[in-house]
Amino acid sequence: MPPAASVVIIGAGFAGTTLIRALERQWPGGLRLTLVSDESYTTFNPMLPEAVGASVFPEQVVVPVREMLRPGCGSRFIMGAVTSVDTVGKTLVCRTLAGEMSVAYDHLVLAFGNRARLDLLPGMAEHALPLKTVGDAMHIRNMVLRRLARIELETDPELRRQLGHFIVIGGGFSGVEVAGELVDCLASIRRYYPLVQADELKITVLHGTERLLPELSPGLGAAALASLRRRGVAVRLQTRAQSLSAEGVVLSTGELIAGHTLICTIGTEPNPLARQAGLALQGGRILTEADMSVPGHPGLWALGDCAAVPNLHDQSTSPPTAQFAVRQALHLARNLMARTRREPTRPFSHRSRGMMASIGHLKGVAEVGGLALTGWPAWVVWRAYYLSQMPSFGRRLRVFLEWAWGMFFPPDITHLRFTRSHELREDEARRTAEAEQGQAWAERARPTGTDGR
Ligand SMILES: Cc1cc2nc3c(=O)[nH]c(=O)nc-3n(C[C@H](O)[C@H](O)[C@H](O)COP(=O)(O)OP(=O)(O)OC[C@H]3O[C@@H](n4cnc5c(N)ncnc54)[C@H](O)[C@@H]3O)c2cc1C
Repeated sequence: MPPAASVVIIGAGFAGTTLIRALERQWPGGLRLTLVSDESYTTFNPMLPEAVGASVFPEQVVVPVREMLRPGCGSRFIMGAVTSVDTVGKTLVCRTLAGEMSVAYDHLVLAFGNRARLDLLPGMAEHALPLKTVGDAMHIRNMVLRRLARIELETDPELRRQLGHFIVIGGGFSGVEVAGELVDCLASIRRYYPLVQADELKITVLHGTERLLPELSPGLGAAALASLRRRGVAVRLQTRAQSLSAEGVVLSTGELIAGHTLICTIGTEPNPLARQAGLALQGGRILTEADMSVPGHPGLWALGDCAAVPNLHDQSTSPPTAQFAVRQALHLARNLMARTRREPTRPFSHRSRGMMASIGHLKGVAEVGGLALTGWPAWVVWRAYYLSQMPSFGRRLRVFLEWAWGMFFPPDITHLRFTRSHELREDEARRTAEAEQGQAWAERARPTGTDGR
């Protein structure tokens, strides 16, 4: 019997984890499966806006990768960042906790997603708060809480207004969801900040085209717009940001929108590994054949956000969504098995099941199976769908209870700082040194008094 082929998958996102679970289910023992990812967990990105709005705890939008693998299938998880791929020698190098490690493969699947782009506009790298990782979501959430605490201590009315102005750049899914979550969150936590007035808090969404959620039908975009505006969100359509600064956003018209918190949901860039491996890109995504193999590189496959996978269903390129990443993974599992059995592979073909967005306040917009839903029914469908995607019953129950809790009680305003004891001492020592230095300066500058005459 020939030795089992080694399949290595890079990236434990929607695509990578669905693929390894499908392979484990379909052909346990027939392949040696290895998943390499730089984080120990998978992030449920569609729930990141809820983590920003404190509707769920950040721990609830992630699932440990090891929990998702099937015991007894012999799959291996390596936590490490892949730094290079040699598609000729069929090896990759990854940086792990134990140092650099080389891994050989027969089939390599690239599922490493893409990254937030921080050089799209001048000032973005320094001033924008991107929303792409769970760390980004926690950072924005903490920033919102700090802004409220800061306003309480500020006496300058203009500065108070700028501190309380949260500007969301981009009115696609993430932008609309973040704005909807933030407006709910601010309304319910303001009770804990008695010195902050309601009219000192404002959310503005800047969107470049004439309607929100361009991925959905015009009616649903209009419903999202009406819902946000009704709840006090200022939505500016056909408005393009030109640059970002500490003062706010400068528009293409030259107008400055003053605000200190700039949440950016626009722009992605390819993972540097795609370029390092010398692969052909299309619109920043790895070019693949219809069966998801990478042309000119035997044994190499790509899917999910990092790949431009043709969709036979409508002759288009698959969009970068979780729905397509999952569908492609299930299809690639079948193709990989076919290839190892020397059977023909099949082109990827998928008809979108619909799209949905939660816009806060128990409201959503959805297009499911040709049916357009708005308001509460869309919100219920949204939540039911993401709950069903959670990998274990225990996790589903925890998220369900958290959501139920959030319907009756205000969000948690704990702002955890991960300061360790030795850092506290260093802080104290630094503050003492600064105070002593300040005192020495003051003494030197003090005019000579009677005693010193
Ligand atoms: C805020 C937000 C909201 C969204 N909402 C929706 C939605 O409502 N509906 C929807 O369908 N889609 C939504 N998406 C898009 C969806 O999340 C992506 O399409 C999906 O995550 C793509 O899956 P993926 O597996 O290709 O990539 P990812 O999920 O990004 O996973 C990539 C994995 O690769 C790992 N990795 C990267 N580089 C390396 C390396 N060098 N070495 C090792 N590992 C590496 C990463 O750590 C990660 O685990 C949203 C995205 C965001 C950011």
